Amino acid sequence: MEKINIALDGHSSCGKSTIAKALAKKLNYVYVDSGAMYRSITLYALEKGLIDKTGINLKKLIGDLDEIHISFKIINGTQHTFLNDKDVEFDIRTQRISENVSQVAKIPEVRVHLVKQQQFLGRSKGVVMDGRDIGTVVFPNAEVKFFVTANVDVRAQRRYEEMIANQHNHITFEEIKQNLEERDFVDSHRETSPLLKAEDAILIDTSDLSPEDQLNFVYSKVIEKINK
Ligand code: C5P
Repeated sequence: MEKINIALDGHSSCGKSTIAKALAKKLNYVYVDSGAMYRSITLYALEKGLIDKTGINLKKLIGDLDEIHISFKIINGTQHTFLNDKDVEFDIRTQRISENVSQVAKIPEVRVHLVKQQQFLGRSKGVVMDGRDIGTVVFPNAEVKFFVTANVDVRAQRRYEEMIANQHNHITFEEIKQNLEERDFVDSHRETSPLLKAEDAILIDTSDLSPEDQLNFVYSKVIEKINK
């Protein structure tokens, strides 16, 4: 079957990565979590003391970009993100990273650096990538694009349950909801590649859809496209 690239963009915690992972598995494609790449650079910046209350040390962070290597490996059937050969899958999902990542993702040099890597990962097709600018900037020619959203309370509840299930405790529903709203605002209003629905993206509201329904819907759209 001919291989294509599939872009999934949308708001924070709307279920994009769950759909993208399941779709990639069903198609035997590679799944790329572009958000994990922005989270990894944020972790690097925090660990190096490049972010404080006054802001981000842009000069140093931009100067260090070529030394920040991000890769993915499958461990026991689950994809893990590596930052300079260290498994950071747990560390990049903390609330501290969620609170800082949108400020890092606003930096144009960071975006240029990561978009190049994301485009390289998709060069041979057969990729499902989720993020905020995949259908608009990374793969403007992706054969199938989805824009995923859901009601903010539903998203916050799902994220809350996911955080607790993954041992990220000490966090309240309200804190999560506030962070989602802030990230959506910054992601949608930044100057460089803001979160936007590509004109040709198919809209999915996952508020009332089960994971199976979401997968069946996106899979049917992809198969329709491939068979055209
Ligand atoms: O997808 P996830 O919620 O893990 O992404 C974390 C953050 O990374 C987003 O809130 C956004 O600021 C940034 N991001 C981005 N562009 C992407 C993917 C993520 O700006 N393609």
